Amino acid sequence: MTAANPVPALLDLPPLTAGHFARIEDKIASLLRTRSDVVAMQGEALLPLEAAIRAAVRPGSTALNVVTGPYGETFGGWLRSCGAEVVTVTAPFSGAVRPEQVADALREHPEIDFVSLVHAEAATGNTNPVAEIGAVVREHGALLMLDAVASVAAEPLLTDEWGVDLCVIGGQKAMAGPAGVSAVAVSDRAWARIAANPQAPRRSYLSLMDWKERWIDGGRTALPHAPAQLEMLALEQAADRVEADGLAAVIARHRAASAATRAGVRTLGTLTPYVTRDGDAAPVATTLRAPGGMDARELVAAAQAADANVPVQAAAGDLAKEMIRVNHYGRAADRSVVLASLAALAEGLRALGAEASEAAAAAEAAGAAWDGIAA
Ligand SMILES: *Cc1c(COP(=O)(O)O)cnc(C)c1O
Repeated sequence: MTAANPVPALLDLPPLTAGHFARIEDKIASLLRTRSDVVAMQGEALLPLEAAIRAAVRPGSTALNVVTGPYGETFGGWLRSCGAEVVTVTAPFSGAVRPEQVADALREHPEIDFVSLVHAEAATGNTNPVAEIGAVVREHGALLMLDAVASVAAEPLLTDEWGVDLCVIGGQKAMAGPAGVSAVAVSDRAWARIAANPQAPRRSYLSLMDWKERWIDGGRTALPHAPAQLEMLALEQAADRVEADGLAAVIARHRAASAATRAGVRTLGTLTPYVTRDGDAAPVATTLRAPGGMDARELVAAAQAADANVPVQAAAGDLAKEMIRVNHYGRAADRSVVLASLAALAEGLRALGAEASEAAAAAEAAGAAWDGIAA
């Protein structure tokens, strides 16, 4: 007799049934505060984002694309490739878009029939006032698509109350879940628009309509494809854990992480929060501005040399030289992780010869800010 093979925990599971898949969708609907259909998409969140745009937009559409970070730029490309006229409203990455900017654009272009907006921007650390913008868009009558990948479970997300027609989430940020599946809530208004769009993908991996016809309209009794079982189970566990911890407590942890990071950095000196107003700061990540003459990438490398485990990274693309990103989402929305990030940044600054004598005071300020919110 040879010793039995260890049982591989991820293999030989019973199949994921249609009923179980539907229950996971229902848990996401509850998290999103929506009564609309939720479609669990079998890919990373860019899949439902692209699927939503291609479903709802056609030649002759005029789309308002709100750009407050890198994802908005991606959406603009998809919108144009669908044949839409694109009106762009931007805000500096150091702040949020103002609802009046959206109202002005809608007044100037009454033909706008689709609005794309990002809620929290993990990459640039800002967040947008969706409740107010949603009210403006609803009054105008356009369809509203929201990228809530970085806001779900980090800040309030009231899909129905805010009038969001296409609400896209992923599990990999504040939910501390998997990146390989995602979901989109689709309002009845959005389904009607999609059904009337001859250009909406059909018989395609990008098709929302396929899911409606083959899954939802049949009462969600038979799955159209083999589901991404492991990822779906992980998404369910992530939703269950948020529920067990309490959504309000998870949101408070993220708010506390943002407040603590900002308070700590301000006390530390040399670095400044990239997002100017506290109210515009995303709870998932704090972006910092490196002082003139310092390359943000060198500071990140020095901070990681001090502590390889801290979730501190340089920004992507054009901002890489000036912006440092401190992530505090999911399991990193934690008091000790925030304090470790601040300590590593202080050591990194010292290693580069910059002033950072206030490390102990920064930790104290961060701790006090944390305790003021999440205790
Ligand atoms: C993280 C994130 C996504 C998902 O995209 P990845 O770059 O693949 O992680 C989409 N939108 C926003 C706003 C995000 O923060």
